[in-house]
Amino acid sequence: MPGRHLHATSLLLLLGGLLLAACDRPPEAHQLSGSTMGTTWSVQFIASPGSETAGLRQDIEMALETVNAQMSTYREDSDLSRFNRSDAGDRVELPADFARVLETALELAEQTGGAYDPTVGPLVNLWGFGPDGPRREPPPESDIEVARERVGWQKLDYEPDTGHLTQHGSIYLDFSSIAKGYGSDLMAEVLERRGISDYLVQIGGDMRVRGHRADGERWRIAVERPAEGERSIHSVIQPGDQAMATSGSYRNFFRDRDKAFSHTIDPRTGYPIPEDLVSVTVLADSAKQADALATAINVLGPDDGYAFARQRELAVLLLIRDGDRLREQMTPAFAAYVAEGAD
Ligand code: ADP
Ligand code: MG
Repeated sequence: MPGRHLHATSLLLLLGGLLLAACDRPPEAHQLSGSTMGTTWSVQFIASPGSETAGLRQDIEMALETVNAQMSTYREDSDLSRFNRSDAGDRVELPADFARVLETALELAEQTGGAYDPTVGPLVNLWGFGPDGPRREPPPESDIEVARERVGWQKLDYEPDTGHLTQHGSIYLDFSSIAKGYGSDLMAEVLERRGISDYLVQIGGDMRVRGHRADGERWRIAVERPAEGERSIHSVIQPGDQAMATSGSYRNFFRDRDKAFSHTIDPRTGYPIPEDLVSVTVLADSAKQADALATAINVLGPDDGYAFARQRELAVLLLIRDGDRLREQMTPAFAAYVAEGAD
């Protein structure tokens, strides 16, 4: 019967149309944000049909609270602050996340000959970049010498098998160069546990990326062209499934008589790093690694930092001040991820 046949055909067409519509509808993009660690966090993700998004904000805030409760120097009751108040010889059992971050920091301290050093805290505070608040002029030489005496990752005895840490001296740990990265890793873990595999998470300049955006394209991240008081784009990076961190002395510093003093301190000299290296961007598997490496390469400086990155085949972009110009230097590993330049 022609009528019935027609009916069946149009039903099929209709179904086909519905299926097409379901495929065509762009996946839903979500965004959450808040503040933490003196800056902001944000999470962008694509919810697939199987992913569980209820209560996500609470889970993310709980993960960030874990990092702050264990590793903040701005909280007197954090595990880290309690360790910093412990006496020489005290053997302290570390919570798991604290231990994971310390292990990465100590590895990097060893690899960089102490240019990166999680015990740099007394110098950071003395120069006015810690919880005691800012200062306007450099500290006296004698104070720098006293603070330097307290710095040195070799004064730490860490037992990886039991997670115990003993200090020999008056050690003050500072994880500000790595905690934001670690927080980003934890946020990514929260999403992955919920079956979310397309996301971009970040805390300040430290981010973790995986999968695609709602339009099916890979995530793109802009690297800033650093300049005081203004913001423009240097280049656009497509990192794939990776972490990226940018660490620069151009935003957190104080000025005294035409000289800028950065919040990144060279523990080998006790002084803030020179002004020539403006920013370092690093791609790595984890944001914890990328964050710490960016700080480490800043301290090593343009020449040693670049050599360090080449030797370890790291993906690194350095922006270097050359008189009035800004010179860029990138490792071959980094060049592979540049989507477009701003020029
Ligand atoms: P930001 O993202 O705020 O620029 P960074 O990741 O560059 O932060 O880390 C800078 C912070 O790291 C400083 O404020 C200080 O607390 C700490 N720091 C400074 N110098 C060193 C160093 N040589 N090794 C490890 N940590 C450092
Ligand atoms: Mg860092």
